[in-house]
Formats: sequence, structure tokens, C-alpha cells
Amino acid sequence: MAWFKKHKEQKTEKKVKIPEGLWVKCDNCKEIIYKKEIEKNLHVCPKCDYHFRISLLERIGFLVEPGSFESIDDDLLSNDPLKFNDSIPYAKRLESNKGKTSMNDAALYGTALINSRPVCIAGIDFSFMGGSMGSVVGEKITRAAELAAEKNLPLITITSSGGARMQEGMFSLMQMAKASAAIGRLKDSGCLYISILSDPTFGGVTASFAMLGDIIIAEPKSLIGFAGQRVIEQTIKQQLPDNFQRSEFLMEHGMIDLIASRKEMKSTVYTLISHFMPEPVES
Ligand SMILES: [Zn+2]
Repeated sequence: MAWFKKHKEQKTEKKVKIPEGLWVKCDNCKEIIYKKEIEKNLHVCPKCDYHFRISLLERIGFLVEPGSFESIDDDLLSNDPLKFNDSIPYAKRLESNKGKTSMNDAALYGTALINSRPVCIAGIDFSFMGGSMGSVVGEKITRAAELAAEKNLPLITITSSGGARMQEGMFSLMQMAKASAAIGRLKDSGCLYISILSDPTFGGVTASFAMLGDIIIAEPKSLIGFAGQRVIEQTIKQQLPDNFQRSEFLMEHGMIDLIASRKEMKSTVYTLISHFMPEPVES
């Protein structure tokens, strides 16, 4: 019976052949759209406003002045402390992800300008091992918070992550406490911390620094949570609403402060910084 249903569904699904390169099928509304039109629209579907998943560097590029991002500590590398080996050794997995993404691990941090305002910025790229937080990611978020506190700059983080990096075991889990403590010290110093959540942000990242923003902003319809919906449903033996863990649901339930589209993210962040951490007036 189960096979029949699946078989039937597969048969009724309309097969549309898309010419490679020029056209993209929207993951949400399934419309075929000219690729350049989507790119011009900051990788947002012009038909249904679906925000495509993009790289961290693209996200930073849409948020700050062109060429102003200076990445710091790019040479930080994981030590593979457990010599972990599942289907392939962790060291090999790291190497293949480095080749795939041109990053040394899933996070970047540094300084940049938003309009004329210097900021400290850190983020996680989902395409590097699901944006999982190992020792390098935790260290970079921590150093970003410390740098912001030292230089009296606002800190902005942009997250897209599946959570902890199981290949580093406890070394991964302790990053949650370390990064959260650094954010605590940043707040004690009086600096503003804005956390931008993008699709998807889950697990240990949600359970630590990403939800500690003075202001938490999410992109529309992003999936944000700790455990996945199915796991929760199986645990509590109840069905959850369809939009459970989407930005809009979290906004209604007080988990986040704002939803901003990709196009309005830069002006939103700049307005918040100008309001909550105005630049000192020189006398
Ligand atoms: Zn669409």
C-alpha cells in the first residue's frame, strides 16, 4: 500500500525539463524563472518571495559596503581531537568541504562597514558540513564577540546551521557555553548584538549565541528551531501546526523580534545600530 501511494505520487508529479544554466525552478512555487532575474533580486523569487539559500559571503555582501569586509583568522583549522571516523574519516570530510566551499571551516568573522558605520560581523555557512558548530566555528564567534567588545563595535551574526558538529563530540558542545559567555561579556561592555537567523538555523547554534541577540531578526519563512518537527511530534505524540518553526510562527510566539526580507536587511540593521548604539558625538 505504501509503495502504491508513493508510486502514484511520483507518476502525478509533473516533469518539467529545465534548460541548464539560464533558468531556475523555484523550490517553493515551482515557477521557472530567469536566473538573472533571481540574482538581481538578491536570490529571492520574484513570484512568491521565497528566499533561496545562499552562501555566507553572499549574505555578508548584501549587508555591508562592497569590498569593506575584512576576514580575520581565516587560517584557524580543526585539530580533529577525537580522530573521528564514521563513513569517512573526519579529516577527509574537512578536506572535501574545504575544496567544495573554498573556506577552511564553516564560519567567517571580521570587520566591515554598513553605510559609514564600522561593525564586527560573524556568520556560518550551511554549505560547509551543514554549518555545524565545531571548535573553529565556536572560536570564531567568540573572537568576534571579544573583538566587538574591545573596539566598541556592534556585533552582527548571520547563522545558517544544523547545530553541533558530532565529529568533535564534547569539543563541539562546549562551544555553546564558550560563545554564549563571550556574548555575555559583550553585553556587559554595552555593545549592541544583532542576530540574523536564516534558513535553516537549528540545534546547538539556536541553543546558544543565535538566540541571545539584543535584537533577533529572521528572514521570511526561515526554518528555525532546536530539534526537528518530526522528532518533537514523535516525542510529545501530538501533531504540530504546518508553519511550526517558521519565522512567522516564531514571531507570533515571541521567539524573535523582527522579520526582514533580504532587500530590507541592510537598512533595518543600520537603523537599529544608529538607534541603539549611536556613534559618540565628537566635541
Ligand atoms: Zn517562487
